[in-house]
Amino acid sequence: MVRNYEVRRQYRMLIGGQWVESASGETLATLNPATEETLATVPFGTAADIDRAVAAAREAFPNWRAMEPRARGKLVAELAARLRAEAERLAYIEALDSGNPVSSMVGDVHMAADLMEYFAGLAAEIQGTTMPLHGGMNYTLREPYGVVGRIIPFNHPIYFAASRIAAALVAGNTVILKPAEQTPLTALEFGALIVDVLPPGVVNIVTGDGPRTGAPLVAHPQVRRIAFTGSVETGREILRAAAEQIKVVTLELGGKNPMIIFPDVDVEKAATTAVNGMNFRWCQGQSCGSTSRVFVHRALHDQFIEALVAGVRQIHLGWPTDPDTEMGSLVSREQYEKVMRYIDMGQREGARLLCGGGRPSGPEFERGYFVEPTVFDQVTPDMTIAREEIFGPVLSVLVWDDEEELLAAVNGVAYGLTAAILSVDLARAMRWAEQVEAGYIWINGSSRHCVGAPFGGQKQSGFGREEALEELLSYTQIKNVQMRYRLD
Ligand code: ADP
Ligand code: MG
Repeated sequence: MVRNYEVRRQYRMLIGGQWVESASGETLATLNPATEETLATVPFGTAADIDRAVAAAREAFPNWRAMEPRARGKLVAELAARLRAEAERLAYIEALDSGNPVSSMVGDVHMAADLMEYFAGLAAEIQGTTMPLHGGMNYTLREPYGVVGRIIPFNHPIYFAASRIAAALVAGNTVILKPAEQTPLTALEFGALIVDVLPPGVVNIVTGDGPRTGAPLVAHPQVRRIAFTGSVETGREILRAAAEQIKVVTLELGGKNPMIIFPDVDVEKAATTAVNGMNFRWCQGQSCGSTSRVFVHRALHDQFIEALVAGVRQIHLGWPTDPDTEMGSLVSREQYEKVMRYIDMGQREGARLLCGGGRPSGPEFERGYFVEPTVFDQVTPDMTIAREEIFGPVLSVLVWDDEEELLAAVNGVAYGLTAAILSVDLARAMRWAEQVEAGYIWINGSSRHCVGAPFGGQKQSGFGREEALEELLSYTQIKNVQMRYRLD
């Protein structure tokens, strides 16, 4: 049971341990996408607020850095425990602000806490190396960068807000977090837990949009490292802006991820795996890791689409705050219109609409950005819906019979984030795993992440790895010290 929690109408943002308005006094409204009504307002942070946040983060840095990594880890673990204790309330606010189903958002909170605990435990892995040197030794130190800017998207707001600052903190950096303009509330709610656990200024949360809030954060000369999760277009802009100061950047961007189905698998199970892989039930398919291009072998095709459509029809669309809801509303009118344009384009380019394709019917769906789970068949690799990321509940089925052509089609997109390979022949699946251009591959599975396994992309899906030791180390820079025992 999830009960109704109260949501404040006006929020402030967190700078230097204080709850503050924006310097300009401007605010930004965030909607409940299921009702299209304003849910609350948050400060509209601009360059002046980024300056304040950077000053606070810089002030907090020396003491934070001076702590032993394990001591920082303990505080991050404490924060994870408080997050878990608030899971239901945060998930409820998340459902209101993002349109994601409340039950899956409870899962997101716990997943974020899992990662925080994982990074807390990794604190002792911040290690260097030593090398012999005649009359001395050579050793390395892994040092934090200083102030890190963390920019996150709207699809998993609390998950990203909590999980994606943990490594930077354990490594000894102080952080400025910039949540997405569509979904700023849970990050601010998380801020209320942060002020009880971390020293002031170690984490600052500045709300606002991309151009006026995110861009000055990226451009700030005292922000030494930027980590970004979001669209390719914005990633490109951030990389360009960061070039000015040779700033270290990692990018986790979009995907147009393939699922490859070989004819030796159980067709019903393959269909279930394809439905799960599309993340309809997690965030209405608004996920960079969704396997949205399903390549099914011709021998299975007819049975597969029958099972797939039956599976998709079982998805329970409903009010995001209803605990039984499996699929809620898209996050904004902009996303809704974008998804509808792609659905229209799919039909015009000759794909066959198998199910969905519009707004669900019923009085509860008269408002809000609800879109039915949608499946296209007879999609070909040249079609727009097979090449571009839709970031919504639209799955494309492509049929294959020749392995060479299949590989060309699978790798023939600009993205390379995830891929799924379904086959009982593990030798073949492993060979394919080597050939597919993607950073994260499932063999006989889809969608699930594994704490400690490196997540990230190839090609235009970005670079850098998260959720693993690599993420922790990416928030450190190596310093080499060449030491002789005496001067002679
Ligand atoms: P989408 O909203 O399509 O997921 P974006 O990549 O535009 O993708 O947004 C992800 C995050 O990046 C949001 O927090 C947004 O405010 C921020 N953002 C957008 N444009 C910029 C920019 N030019 N510089 C820094 N951050 C930006
Ligand atoms: Mg909102």
